[in-house]
Amino acid sequence: MTTKKKVAVIGAGVSGLVTAKTFKEKGHDVTIIERSHDLGGVWELSRSYPDVQTQSPKDLYRYTDKPMPDDYPEWPKGPQVHAYLDSYAADYNLRDHIRFNTSVSEMTRRADGQKGWTLHLVDQAGKESTEDFDFVSVCTGQFSEKNILTHPGQEAFEAQGGQVMHSSEYTDPSIVEGKNVTVLGFSKSATDIAVNAVKSGAKSVTIVYLQSVWRVPYFIGGLINFKRILYIRKQEQMFPSWGLNPMQKFAHVIGKPFVWANWRALEALLTMQLKLKKTGLRPEIKIEDEINCSVPIVTPGLFEMIADGRINCIKGTFKEYEGDSVVLTGGEKVKTDLAILAVGWKLGVPYLPQEYQDKLVEEDGQYRLYRIIANPDLPDMGFVGFNSSFCTVLCADLAANWLVRYADGKLAKQPTEQQMNDNIEQMLHWKRHEKPSAKVYGGLCVAPYHFKHFDELLDDMGAKIRRRNPLAENFTPPDADAYRRFLDSTPDYRVN
Ligand SMILES: Cc1cc2nc3c(=O)[nH]c(=O)nc-3n(C[C@H](O)[C@H](O)[C@H](O)COP(=O)(O)OP(=O)(O)OC[C@H]3O[C@@H](n4cnc5c(N)ncnc54)[C@H](O)[C@@H]3O)c2cc1C
Repeated sequence: MTTKKKVAVIGAGVSGLVTAKTFKEKGHDVTIIERSHDLGGVWELSRSYPDVQTQSPKDLYRYTDKPMPDDYPEWPKGPQVHAYLDSYAADYNLRDHIRFNTSVSEMTRRADGQKGWTLHLVDQAGKESTEDFDFVSVCTGQFSEKNILTHPGQEAFEAQGGQVMHSSEYTDPSIVEGKNVTVLGFSKSATDIAVNAVKSGAKSVTIVYLQSVWRVPYFIGGLINFKRILYIRKQEQMFPSWGLNPMQKFAHVIGKPFVWANWRALEALLTMQLKLKKTGLRPEIKIEDEINCSVPIVTPGLFEMIADGRINCIKGTFKEYEGDSVVLTGGEKVKTDLAILAVGWKLGVPYLPQEYQDKLVEEDGQYRLYRIIANPDLPDMGFVGFNSSFCTVLCADLAANWLVRYADGKLAKQPTEQQMNDNIEQMLHWKRHEKPSAKVYGGLCVAPYHFKHFDELLDDMGAKIRRRNPLAENFTPPDADAYRRFLDSTPDYRVN
């Protein structure tokens, strides 16, 4: 029998909730530490910008044991996702396990000689405490520490009435009314905010961007839900992946002309549909070299607004603030009342001691994580939700199931330290030399290799069923209900 552990789950977002549920289900004693006043992580209501909605269709952005409600739209709005997560927490009585308004400021190895970690906690009132845990699951995601950018002249710009904010602080659209708004960045949040600012009565809206990227519309060609084209195993197999045998490599060589034509056709279709030539926003990079977690879904209305001038796009970046304007690197001066910096988030686990951070992250920023979940040099610890993707809830669910078995020594293929390190090196080599786009977000992105990643996790867990019928498996998107069946076919156990 495996012994019950006292488990800390850091973060009560999508990943923390499913991790707590999964460890609890096996019989562990679970505490979730959450620094916010509510659950949901990026979907917590006070953090969400107006009109935020998922990029993933609802049947792909869900846990394996809980569909989103039937009356939700195909791409649910932020508050609907939050309500779904809240209801999931209620189903498994998770709220009682959450310690809200409590931050993990540091974690150190336990001084009592036992396995595990001592968490250093700070509550809302600033009161500090420590608590020992046998195992820690890090579920703090990739969107917890803002990137803060300042440019020369910001103080004077603010003193004369200008405003500067991070994209995550744009929660009240009424602040843009009658204002000249300049958005720095071209990510999904940047374009969502720019479109929302136009709709909310901004006087002018300018996007300042470094380079254009391929974006996928909700309906390709205006007709086909993108999940039916981009989320299927057959499409995934067009990308050469890691660990291919000679036959598979040969198949890629033979299929190259067909695959090339497939991508050129998609580029031509997107160029036409999104008016990329007219707006000068056709990316230079090939689409197949860019498909990873950073590919945004098109904000509805974006390209129409760019084409008719309601949104002005200027290539470059901020150089400085001057009077009531932002001066760009190309010399342009953009009159600005409100500058919104959609410059993303810092990756990292800041509360981990430097000595362990060095074991976790390579000098070039790549993470050393086996299956994007565990590191053999970071004992009694795992990471859920770091395997981000276009269907992160499903990824987190499978990762949590893998992690509890790993922690309990119950994987059917429990890896040795040597096997983990060899695999980590193999993956690092593949990302650095064969698939540079897989290095995005420190290598913490499984897209477009969802199926292959899930196959590996299920194989490790000893799932007896791993595939649907060949037609469904090859030509339809991942099916959360099917993954529940696959998980249910893994060997069961409980801790005492
Ligand atoms: C606007 C937006 C839209 C998105 N849409 C999609 C989508 O459609 N499809 C998709 O697959 N992904 C999407 N994502 C990615 C999204 O991040 C993941 O889908 C998922 O929500 C991540 O959940 P998480 O629990 O891993 O992290 P988070 O949601 O970031 O939760 C982390 C939690 O950890 C807490 N925390 C952080 N540090 C500490 C600390 N030191 N102590 C205590 N608590 C701490 C935070 O307060 C937070 O609650 C979107 C992201 C954003 C921002």
